[in-house]
Amino acid sequence: KGEVVTRNKVRETLRLFQAICRKLLQEEESKVKEREHPNIFRIDLVASKLLREKQMWVNTGKPILGVIPGVEVGDEFQYRVELAIVGIHRPFQGGIDYLKKGKEILATSIVASGGYDDETDSSDVLIYLGSGGTVGGKGEKRVEDQKLERGNLALKNSIHARSPVRVIRGFKELKTSESHETRPKVVTTYTYDGLYMVEKYWQEQGNHGCSVFKFQLRRIPGQPELAFKQVKKSKKSRVQEGLVMDDISMGEEMLPICVVNTVDGELPPPFKYVTKAIHHPWYNLSSPRGCDCTNGCSDSNNCSCAVKNGGEIPFNFNGAIVEAKPLVYECGPSCKCPPSCHNRVSQHGMKFPLEVFKTQSRGWGVRSLASIPSGSFICEYTGELLEEIEAEQRTGNDEYLFDIGHNYSDQSLWDGLSTLIPDLQTSGPCDVVDGVGFTIDAAKYGNVGRFINHSCSPNLYAQNVLYDHDDKRMPHIMFFAAENIPPLQELTYHYNYCIDQVRDSDGNIKRKDCYCGSQECTGRLY
Ligand code: SAM
Repeated sequence: KGEVVTRNKVRETLRLFQAICRKLLQEEESKVKEREHPNIFRIDLVASKLLREKQMWVNTGKPILGVIPGVEVGDEFQYRVELAIVGIHRPFQGGIDYLKKGKEILATSIVASGGYDDETDSSDVLIYLGSGGTVGGKGEKRVEDQKLERGNLALKNSIHARSPVRVIRGFKELKTSESHETRPKVVTTYTYDGLYMVEKYWQEQGNHGCSVFKFQLRRIPGQPELAFKQVKKSKKSRVQEGLVMDDISMGEEMLPICVVNTVDGELPPPFKYVTKAIHHPWYNLSSPRGCDCTNGCSDSNNCSCAVKNGGEIPFNFNGAIVEAKPLVYECGPSCKCPPSCHNRVSQHGMKFPLEVFKTQSRGWGVRSLASIPSGSFICEYTGELLEEIEAEQRTGNDEYLFDIGHNYSDQSLWDGLSTLIPDLQTSGPCDVVDGVGFTIDAAKYGNVGRFINHSCSPNLYAQNVLYDHDDKRMPHIMFFAAENIPPLQELTYHYNYCIDQVRDSDGNIKRKDCYCGSQECTGRLY
């Protein structure tokens, strides 16, 4: 079609896919109680089919050898079908993809799954087991010698053709979900590892006595190192380069938040770490009326919290937020449900190990040491809760002000979602934040949220959440992941300033240049 596929297009497509998956999962989960055995249907396949029907897959033209437009080394995927949707690996199941070039076939990509992430140390060499060798279906599986055909032949041909092969690694991890009584699950994350060359191949005897093919691939030098390898290396060496503080929260958070500075060795200026917003004692915040559920909250008229959310629980059982809403109600202290209720997510605090680090041009910033799946809760923005008039008097130090009610996130994705899949159960009307009267100032009191920088192409968004009071003028500001975020990638949200609207105490327009570095950068913060 000759369409230019940009990085942004790829990210948008994946976000939409992930949002559809969460929506479908929400619907499935809402039915669990009604059924003895929940349907284990493949939401990923349904979602990818929907996107395909709307012609929203990218890089669907001729198969590509080498770099795929819009996809970067280190990109992470939760489902294998995402690889097909963005065009880095087309078969949903097969491990080897290939194309026809002239008279021969050449490999384009392989998925090396089955590995646990501690197996792959610093080595750039990958030994890949050929495909085939098992025949017959369930119950009557037989093994036979692997043949030098299709994918195996394509990999062999790539040696003398000196053509690069994309490698996607599937790493397994055992995940326990706290909010719901489900057994620990093995979760695979697929990471795009970059381009490799096939160096040699041989035949050997496999586990079952039949012969198999093995291929040796070597990573082409000069590509960025995978972040999780970097993280592991520094954990192993114990002395982390640039470490200036072990825990900026001084034990206040469940996980320590270290501070690293490889730029100039300075420490962040002091502030008081608080995990909850501080408000004037004269705001008498009343407790909300809670729900009466004792047998699990669900998307029904019985749970009054679900009703406040438009008739649905806004989270999946795994803790992912389903979609951005003007205001989300979690169950709270006045509810009868237990702390493990799946409508309690952000109130439990951070779950991902975060790190404050010195950037080159934006002061301090925040990143995660682990992979974060799309929809996960990251952290709150805490500080002193001020009325707008008070905040306006603090113009001298306005770096850490967060205006509640101005954090309206880009709705286009979510609007796109409802037009794309109108059959999906959509929620009823949602509440919105009342007025725009309050600001959080994190200059003197704050948490890790105060270090998160702005980006014109952000990977987080700020969600208004209520649970411990019902004053809609001052919800909690909670950050959630808008996409899958690999380790060490800076966490950012859109500050939503209006250009030429920020003024100093004399009423002069202030301006600040943006150094987010994204392709979509508008050049100005305000
Ligand atoms: N970087 C801050 C620090 O060192 O404490 C943490 C973020 S603080 C809430 C907001 C301030 O960070 C802004 O007023 C600006 O000085 C800086 N900042 C955030 N995002 C930026 C960006 N994209 N470009 C330039 N400066 C940025």
